Amino acid sequence: MSSPNTRLMPVTATISSEDHLLIGGLDTVELAERFGTPLWVMDYQTIVQAVSACRDGLAAGFLEAGNGSRGAGGAGSGSAAGASVLYAGKAFTCLAMGRIVRRLGLGLDVVSEGELFTALRAGVDPETIFLHGNNKSDSELERALLAGPVTVVVDGVGELERLDRLASRLERKARILVRVTPGVEPDTHDHIKTGQADSKFGVPLADVPNFVRRCLSMPETIAFRGLHAHIGSQSHDIEPYLRIVDILADLALRLKEMGVEVEMLDLGGGLGIAYTEKDRPLPLYTWARELSAAAVMAFASRKLTMPHLLLEPGRSIIGPAGVTIYRAGDTKEFLSGVRYVSLDGGMADNPRPATYNALYTARIASRMSAIGTDDVTTLVGRYCESGDIIIKDAGIPVRTGDLVAIFATGAYNYSMSSNYNRTGRPACVLVDDSKAELILRRETLEDLICQDRVPDWLTDD
Ligand code: PLP
Repeated sequence: MSSPNTRLMPVTATISSEDHLLIGGLDTVELAERFGTPLWVMDYQTIVQAVSACRDGLAAGFLEAGNGSRGAGGAGSGSAAGASVLYAGKAFTCLAMGRIVRRLGLGLDVVSEGELFTALRAGVDPETIFLHGNNKSDSELERALLAGPVTVVVDGVGELERLDRLASRLERKARILVRVTPGVEPDTHDHIKTGQADSKFGVPLADVPNFVRRCLSMPETIAFRGLHAHIGSQSHDIEPYLRIVDILADLALRLKEMGVEVEMLDLGGGLGIAYTEKDRPLPLYTWARELSAAAVMAFASRKLTMPHLLLEPGRSIIGPAGVTIYRAGDTKEFLSGVRYVSLDGGMADNPRPATYNALYTARIASRMSAIGTDDVTTLVGRYCESGDIIIKDAGIPVRTGDLVAIFATGAYNYSMSSNYNRTGRPACVLVDDSKAELILRRETLEDLICQDRVPDWLTDD
């Protein structure tokens, strides 16, 4: 089973006889001409294969651990009988992505009213939606309660009390998981760690029994379903996850002694992907298989019923599907040997390099074989920050006018993008089977001023 998160390029990426990059059967040079640049290209088949890898891994883990019946999921159901894949929408969400989630039978993890609204508008079944966030507003909680049986992943006692009050007023009962801070750190950048003991996310491990007691005191409004933990993002290592499995199984045992059954066990997302040739992420299939096998064994060894297992991959589903196509502008060469090539996008459409020194890989979309001849080329963005550098020493001899493809930009590019310097966001096209469809239209100059208001007193001269 191939796992797209180990590849730099989308699964359909090929090189034409003219040395052009093709994705989904389409020439990216033609896509750039048709839709303009910068352009986000999303490959549907990469998403499909990533979902299959995760789902098949879950089922294999159940089988391996001797719990085959629970692991056997129907094709297209989005879940093994004892497990579900929730796509973490924060990685990339829009209406078309919501339809893909629905079509592939995935669940969805949302972190804001905007993501929830988008999901519901796209027709995602509320029953499969999980609402996260460390500071959910009343309005977000209300929307979740009114939408139907959305599960709220509660981040602390304060939120629980508010949810109780809101549910009581709206005469609803909230299904909840508690987000546990397990005190486990993954091997990743500080800004994307979330599992450490002093994290802003979740309820400290030692406080969870009391938190659950509080839930039980709210029988009219709160239905406690289980435990959630997410340790961080872009992790390459299985060890921290296996520690979490044991920590949560111990916690489930403690809750069982209090008479409380853990029906759902959500191990979060965070699996890394390959951004450069040097990256060796754990394959998505292996990650899902090892986690499901470990969870089944951890619960069996404590004589606990295995809860329904949830995984929340975002980056490893959508990251490898995305490629950004930029047009190279002016170049500058210095006596020191430094050579800058300016692209027509940058930190507003991909803030990751400036935010946490994220690395990427580039090729020239119309001369794919041109690599390694000029490793002093630094690809810089067009924004007014010296830190707007997309790739240092990109290793490709880019000339003005070339189209530059940057790989693995499907996750946390559009979703973290901005209108910095009053530039519009790029368009995004979904490609499959030699067809390209616009799923996000390019923002226009009119879009940029559509929220602006001018006070009357500034218009009277
Ligand atoms: N689940 C939770 C609670 C998260 O906070 C995140 C990311 O921050 C994810 C899942 C998805 O992580 P990733 O995209 O790295 O798989």
